[in-house]
Amino acid sequence: MNATDLRFFKSFLLTRKSSILNRSTEFKNEQCAERTLISDEAEAASLDLSMSLSIHLHERDRMLLFQIDRALGKLEDGTYGQCESCADLINVGRLKASPFTTLCIACKEEQEDPRNYLQ
Ligand SMILES: [Zn+2]
Repeated sequence: MNATDLRFFKSFLLTRKSSILNRSTEFKNEQCAERTLISDEAEAASLDLSMSLSIHLHERDRMLLFQIDRALGKLEDGTYGQCESCADLINVGRLKASPFTTLCIACKEEQEDPRNYLQ
């Protein structure tokens, strides 16, 4: 991977990270505002529903942040783009399509091969 690619991935990851962090801050502010406006029970119930939805989204963001930090750590120590299974370099085009991937195509296919589950 060349310096341009590394810069690309680093800025992609950092942009992604800050947009998630901004979103969760906005979300917290919204929740506080809504809470103070609740007057009757029906409203409270519908808020419960939208809150569990938000918590689910939040969970996804948390996973994503974890993956981003992991990828950033790899960029730091120079192992980004290396397959975790066979240590081969992952194709840059594949990384650009899914920047959090940790396996090369061959290992990924092997992992997903249903025959492996039968052993
Ligand atoms: Zn591999």
